[in-house]
Amino acid sequence: MAGTEFADRLDRARQALAGAGWAGLVVPPGADLRYLTGYAARALERLTCLVLPSGGSPTLIVPRLERPAAERSPAAEAGIRIVDWPDGTSPYPLVADALEPGAIGPGVGVGAQLWASHLLALQAALPAASWQPAGPVLGPLRARKTPAEVEALAEAGAAIDAVHQRMGRWLRPGRTEAEVGADIAAAIRETGHATVDFVIVAAGPHAASPHHDTSDRPIGAGEPVVVDIGGTMPSGYCSDCTRTYVAGGAPPADFVGYYAVLQEAQRAAVAAVAPGVSAESVDGAARTPIAGAGYGPAFLHRTGHGIGLETHEDPYIVDGNTEPLAEGMAFSVEPGIYLAGRHGARIEDIVVCTADGVRRLNTTPTDLVQL
Ligand code: ZN
Ligand code: ZN
Repeated sequence: MAGTEFADRLDRARQALAGAGWAGLVVPPGADLRYLTGYAARALERLTCLVLPSGGSPTLIVPRLERPAAERSPAAEAGIRIVDWPDGTSPYPLVADALEPGAIGPGVGVGAQLWASHLLALQAALPAASWQPAGPVLGPLRARKTPAEVEALAEAGAAIDAVHQRMGRWLRPGRTEAEVGADIAAAIRETGHATVDFVIVAAGPHAASPHHDTSDRPIGAGEPVVVDIGGTMPSGYCSDCTRTYVAGGAPPADFVGYYAVLQEAQRAAVAAVAPGVSAESVDGAARTPIAGAGYGPAFLHRTGHGIGLETHEDPYIVDGNTEPLAEGMAFSVEPGIYLAGRHGARIEDIVVCTADGVRRLNTTPTDLVQL
């Protein structure tokens, strides 16, 4: 991302702050900090945070020993003032100085990932501030991706698709889920990801548990295997894609039947995506055909989640979320059918809402893959 993109994001955050009537924001290490400054800092017992007053210039407060890392980050290039503090001193008065409290209102937004130890110290240092979750201000900004962010997500999608396309090399009956998972993790790195975030290889009865990890259980011939994998690219943007496989034999007859229902439901939900359509109606588009086929209770989670610098972020594609979709929103469409004790299936693509419809960022076929 160019430095001008960060300056633009800081401007938009300031406008949102002014709209909320808040004095400013305190942003700890994590996706919000990376979004606003490009600085990928670690959360530690020593305070690092960006302080963004609604009417003034941002300040990045860092421990003195981390100043070189901060200066090498895009934050410095974007012209953000860096203030360091040495061990043996308290950083919290620096936050008070950078905030200019009382400028607009007593409200101060704080990122969800700020450790409680830091927040308690900030509350003591700024007794007049009313601390508010920053999500309502930053969430809507992060939910609508710029063209550069969409391309970063497309690059992540292509990288994880390349891992799925190689599944036949690793997924065979008799190998354990953990053995297959280790090969997949290596491939996630080889295809350009900086980190492996999760590897779910769920065979047979494990496929009925949506957040199964891996295990030492050998994969059986003909067992459905749900493979849900993702990582983070050097850009900071995440991948997340699920396909369901069968290796070394014919799958159960009822599985073949409900997989066809699931594939149609996933296709219908992707096709429902367009600007102005509510998030919950995309969930409904996936749920209606599954319920119609008698599997309603077996689809036991929401249809999707936003994705960007975090794997799970706004907008959530869930019943009750009446928020209209808008151009640039990127999220998963991942219905599943899970039959406890037997087997299950899930199909997941990342999609982005475009000016007139939808673009899939995972482009491999959603057919059941028989290896
Ligand atoms: Zn997933
Ligand atoms: Zn997902």
